[in-house]
Amino acid sequence: MDLILLGPPGAGKGTQATTIAAKYGLIQLSTGEMLRAAAAAGTEVGRQAKAIMDKGELVPDEVVIRIISERIDQPDCKGGVIFDGFPRTLAQASALDKLLRDKKRKLDAVIELRVDDTKLVERIVGRFTCAKCGAGYHDRFKRPKVRGVCDVCQGTEFTRRPDDNAETVTRRLMVYYRETAPLTGYYYCKGNLRAVDGMAAIEQVGQEIGAVLDAVK
Ligand code: ADP
Ligand code: AMP
Repeated sequence: MDLILLGPPGAGKGTQATTIAAKYGLIQLSTGEMLRAAAAAGTEVGRQAKAIMDKGELVPDEVVIRIISERIDQPDCKGGVIFDGFPRTLAQASALDKLLRDKKRKLDAVIELRVDDTKLVERIVGRFTCAKCGAGYHDRFKRPKVRGVCDVCQGTEFTRRPDDNAETVTRRLMVYYRETAPLTGYYYCKGNLRAVDGMAAIEQVGQEIGAVLDAVK
């Protein structure tokens, strides 16, 4: 099963992708995570991407398409993937269509998480992750069970993304509406768009996505 989680920054794509990946045995392909890993590793691509990401702009299509195309060829992706944060432009969507066609794969569903803008800002500025295992949290909506200790790996250090500040979020939202929002029309016309209410609590959103996936499986 191959699927896309579509939605603005902060909609809950990463949060839901992690749960779905574990439940359905899929690999989560987050281009944002891959670019942050490249930046942390100090590669040329990573350094160039970091400057763009810090401004809240999009990394060039050819860069992310290449990253996805190389990653999906790895054996662990054979059983199915969740695209999280990719595609983000019509050019990326069309490149993904070709890529999947060439590899004799097909998209089973495109799930759009719908969340109000005001909520997005609140979610993004409160987001933090475990520095050791990357598990995601929120100051108000998803606190670790024991304060200061990661639920997953018991790590005690947490980080916040440099682009998760109120100023960059506004830029990222504008970029989303200009470049990525048209993809809902693109996938609606292809017949595989499913909208889910992303305003609900994390577990409830997960259940709704689960219902969609059980129907398309
Ligand atoms: P995205 O990957 O779409 O940018 P995330 O999954 O990282 O978004 O979620 C952004 C923040 O909002 C995280 O801190 C996460 O814990 C929190 N969050 C995700 N889904 C919900 C939800 N349904 N209700 C409240 N907070 C949520
Ligand atoms: P995310 O982790 O999905 O919030 O992405 C963080 C940042 O990485 C974005 O603001 C972009 O600068 C960059 N990025 C991630 N995915 C893509 C993509 N598919 N196309 C272009 N830029 C991307």
